[in-house]
Amino acid sequence: MRALNQFNFSNECAIIRVDFNVPLNDKMEVTDTTRIEAAKPTIDHILSEGGKCVLISHLGRPKGQEPKYSLSNIIETVSQILGVTVYFSESCVGPSAQAQVAALQPGEVLMMENLRYHSEETEGDINFSEELSKLGTVYVNDAFGTAHRAHASTTIIAKFFKDKKCFGRLLEKEVLSIERVMKTGDSPILAIIGGAKVSSKITIIESLLDKVDHLIIGGGMVYTFTKAMGGMVGNSICEPDYCDYALQLMNKAKQKNIKIHLPVDVVAGDSFSNDAKQKVFKVMHIPEGWEAMDAGPKSIEKFHNLILNCKTILWNGPMGVFEFSNFSKGTIAAGESIAEATNLGAFSLVGGGDSVAAVKQFGLENKMSYISTGGGAMLESLEGKVLPGIEALS
Ligand code: AMP
Repeated sequence: MRALNQFNFSNECAIIRVDFNVPLNDKMEVTDTTRIEAAKPTIDHILSEGGKCVLISHLGRPKGQEPKYSLSNIIETVSQILGVTVYFSESCVGPSAQAQVAALQPGEVLMMENLRYHSEETEGDINFSEELSKLGTVYVNDAFGTAHRAHASTTIIAKFFKDKKCFGRLLEKEVLSIERVMKTGDSPILAIIGGAKVSSKITIIESLLDKVDHLIIGGGMVYTFTKAMGGMVGNSICEPDYCDYALQLMNKAKQKNIKIHLPVDVVAGDSFSNDAKQKVFKVMHIPEGWEAMDAGPKSIEKFHNLILNCKTILWNGPMGVFEFSNFSKGTIAAGESIAEATNLGAFSLVGGGDSVAAVKQFGLENKMSYISTGGGAMLESLEGKVLPGIEALS
């Protein structure tokens, strides 16, 4: 892995692929600055060595040059977070873009307009990639969130930098965190996989079966297993077509000596709503008219004991319908147990949209070892895929 520290950026102009695909409200204000803050260490490092920074990113999925997707909307926020004036170029390629780059001085930052104003970006067009490569002398990829895409700015551009290309700090941290779960972590290694459906987590679970000692299955996925084992699921979410798969998975885990842990009890509601009447049932006996939406108290305790005994913990997917406050206890408890284990020395990685959202919502952000910034990229890494953006740097 070629890291940032292996270069001297003095008098170099770094093209940094950042992931500034941030959420904006109706007033075009950035509502979550995590991704901008996450790119700051790389930019700070390059500036401190006397380098110039050219930031390239996408924002949303514009159809043509829609103003609401202009990166000029976030320039003030980026300037504030970086603590320097960030200049803006109204195009990311072409003579005027190159002229602005040429005028840039050491210690200065220029942000280019949305890469996705050009369809060539997502097409991975080689000529567009070459145009982008003219914006600097070193290519730094710090956009983990798009590292699973073979786009012009995330992958193809790297061809134009023989040796002068490297990982940014964020990308490096993401890759090392995933390696710590998949390759180098201390045992016992635990994966907690929750979420709505088994069908969307099959490849991850398969891939994890070769890496972990324990697997907790949580969320709506549980009831496909319950049904597969001959239990009653009531109105709970269930994928009958995946029951055979669930049984095969349990057999496979047994052969590999991996322990699968399911909830023993669940909290169900008499309708899919926060205000539903609640009852606790054994996981194998959920009556008709009841929909299981959270882990029950005995399951919470069982998972707590297991989590505290593990040294490496991966969490992907909530343990229930955490968006309903009355059914969020299992997800909060899992987060708190992981936080406690982390405090006791375990390494914890939280990744994938909804578990990250849950950790933030319940104020546990600073209590985990690492929270991934990339949804799809994180999931593909856990599936064991080599991401094109990462491969392109090697
Ligand atoms: P995923 O994107 O697959 O990780 O799924 C996350 C979603 O799963 C969240 O929106 C949760 O509300 C949902 N979920 C978790 N547990 C259940 C459940 N028991 N019944 C229905 N949906 C669930």
